Amino acid sequence: HPLDCPICDQGGECDLQDQAVGYGSDSSRDEEAKRAVKDKNLGPLVKTVMTRCIQCTRCIRFSTEIAGVSELGATARGEGMEIGTYVEKALTSELSGNLIDICPVGALTSKPYAFVARPWELRKTDSVDVLDAVGAAIRVDARGPEVLRVLPRLNEDVNEEWLGDKSRFAVDGLMRRRLDSCWVRRDGKLVRAEWEEAFAAIAGKLAGMDGGRIGALAGDLADAESMLLLKELMAALGSANIDCRQDGAMLDASRRDYYSFNTSIAGIEEADALLIVGSNPRREAPLVNARIRKAWLAGGLQVAAIGTPVDLTYPVEWLGERPLALGGLLGGAGFAEVLKAAKRPMIIVGQAALARPDGAALLAACWKLAAETGMLTADWHGFNVLHTAASRVGALDLGFLTMDEGELERFAKTSREILAEPGVYKKRYRAKA
Ligand code: SF4
Ligand code: SF4
Repeated sequence: HPLDCPICDQGGECDLQDQAVGYGSDSSRDEEAKRAVKDKNLGPLVKTVMTRCIQCTRCIRFSTEIAGVSELGATARGEGMEIGTYVEKALTSELSGNLIDICPVGALTSKPYAFVARPWELRKTDSVDVLDAVGAAIRVDARGPEVLRVLPRLNEDVNEEWLGDKSRFAVDGLMRRRLDSCWVRRDGKLVRAEWEEAFAAIAGKLAGMDGGRIGALAGDLADAESMLLLKELMAALGSANIDCRQDGAMLDASRRDYYSFNTSIAGIEEADALLIVGSNPRREAPLVNARIRKAWLAGGLQVAAIGTPVDLTYPVEWLGERPLALGGLLGGAGFAEVLKAAKRPMIIVGQAALARPDGAALLAACWKLAAETGMLTADWHGFNVLHTAASRVGALDLGFLTMDEGELERFAKTSREILAEPGVYKKRYRAKA
């Protein structure tokens, strides 16, 4: 079997090929006719060549046990056995890309990456994923300037050996329609410009302007160094209007554990009761959701949630869609009793709860519930805020928001107010209308 086998993408990183090289004869002793299996269509991400399947059933066990979506299985038995989705359909799991990694042979490979490169052509760089706030350990494989694929690295504390599909398959966006140079608006049209030109345009607009009229918002992918410099620049310009919460989330940065995931992702496995408020971890942080499922599978974790009912891949007691349900828990009724009786109860507060106009009150209510139900003890911190933006916690650590000391709800000028400045947002809105 040639290492650069022209028909199989697994070439060079195939367990079966390694076995054949280590132990195999160079000619087949099998006199029977080769078994051929029709390929399955599993959607746009996972390519199948089912004749190569060695029926190890890893893919079935992964999708059923870890991803929690029983959509792969084996039909027929003996020589006729085939792996598939029973009825042809695309995979729906947000962790489906991991099937590519766990299939030891080239039966399940990456469809977008098919015949794009061989492993020895790639420059491998260890990195951290930024497409959600989990910070999964990844390896970025590039050829020249082009990133061709992203694979997970083992990190038991965060992602174990898994990666969500968004993080794995977003690489094509790196080559298309990227903001890769400065643009300046001239006569109503954006034109490409040099950095000096762009800075001159910014300086020209800011010169002599009152600091109160200037606002700065930090993006979800901004690095901490840039945000710190922007904060210092705004201070020098006399502006206190900075914010990293463009979604209007009423996050409170006066204490670090008000906005952190204090239990830690690995710590979820120690919890025995969990309340989710305003979050869909399956969409917002698939790897956190996989960890919750793991804790439930191991037994003991009871989960309840306040929000719109969805399938989270484990049993959830839905307490209601409105903040009223939280009020009921504060009275000590229903699931509050389960939290109180638990040895290690935890709460996850999502951005959907915090981005409401009453987000600050909800955050305070969740903290109160955590205190009342024994989540805040000397050896256990069960209060967690689940973010969706990679840079958000870094920005809050840097204080990239204006807040009066000690007062929860009096931000100097939040992102909502910055965007509602008549000179900025409304004018643009009117022009569009
Ligand atoms: Fe070769 Fe089969 Fe492995 Fe593909 S799956 S690399 S064809 S041994
Ligand atoms: Fe076949 Fe690959 Fe699934 Fe194993 S993981 S059963 S080789 S498709």
